Order: sequence, then C-alpha cells, then structure tokens
Amino acid sequence: MTQPINRIQNLIDALRVLPNVGHKTAQRLAFTLLKHERAGAQHLAEAITDALQHLRHCSQCYTLSDAEICTTCANSKRQAQLLCVVQSPMDQLLIKQTMTYQGKYFVISGQLNPLEGLGPTDIAMDKLLARACDGVVQEVILATHFTNEGELTAHYIAEQLLARGLRVTRLAKGVPVGSELEQVDLGTLAQAMTARR
Ligand code: ZN
Repeated sequence: MTQPINRIQNLIDALRVLPNVGHKTAQRLAFTLLKHERAGAQHLAEAITDALQHLRHCSQCYTLSDAEICTTCANSKRQAQLLCVVQSPMDQLLIKQTMTYQGKYFVISGQLNPLEGLGPTDIAMDKLLARACDGVVQEVILATHFTNEGELTAHYIAEQLLARGLRVTRLAKGVPVGSELEQVDLGTLAQAMTARR
C-alpha cells in the first residue's frame, strides 16, 4: 500500500532550504502561510516559479537578469571604464544601493577555497579576464568579501589583472575583517567604495 502524501511535512521540508531556517522555524512558517497568509503564500509560490522560469544570467556580467543583457550592462550612462567584481548578485545590489559607484559589474559567483577544492574555474576566471581586458575597462575594483576566502580571491584576481596592465583597487578597510558584504551596513560599504585603493 502506498503511503498517503503528507503535504504539511512536504512544505516544512521545502522551507528548510532557506538559510538559517531550522525545523522549528520551518514548522512555524508553514502553519503561518497556510493559516494566516494564504494570499501571500500563493503570491510567494507564483513569484518563485516565475523567477525560476524567467531569470537567467546576463551574458556580460553574469548577474541575474530578465533579459540577455541586464539593465546595468545596457545602461550607457554607467562608466564603462570601471568594473567592480562581486561574489554574488546580492553583493552587486548592495554596492548599487550605496550610490557611490557608477561603473559596471562582474559577478564571479563564488570564491577560491583550496580546502574545498575551489579554484580559478569556479570563479569564471577566464570570463572575467576576457571582460576586464576588453580594451575599455581601465580600473577593476575588487569587492569580494573580507573573509579569508574573499581576500584570497581578491589577491589572485589582482595578480592576474595587474599582469595584464590593468589598474586594480580593493574596497578600503573599515569593513570588519571576516565579514561578508551583506553583514556590512550601507554607510560603511559606501565609505569603503569611495576610499578604495
Ligand atoms: Zn549585466
């Protein structure tokens, strides 16, 4: 005999994919969605399905985008000689929100981590080199995390770019050591961008 589907348990299990959501939080979320937030839950389900179906990676900067080329890359008012390297679309959004940077971006979607076997191919190094050496970019700003892996990644990318004659800068310190960008408040991040060196 087949087991009946346990839909509540399915939902609880599915919610555990969210960061920092343990079993108890997942249970609370599931019952809240089903009892008090049914319209919101429907909207959430549709928004996730729609995003998964229609968002893709921009062919120039690899951030998430509705179109082949994202609005930031397509924006001719942004300074094409500046390229900011970030670890994720979320980090890109944070830098954008500081309102201190008017150049373009490149999302490497990861970081070097020798202990986990993550090397240059895991940060799309070949694509970054091709993008940075397009003849237009003059300065590359490294906005990787201030963790060991983020610093290692910045160091590696800097070496590669300096060897190709590009100017390379790094977000200024002031950002606490060991932090990921999302743990840093926008004011500090804005200062770090303005005082980059
Ligand atoms: Zn783009």
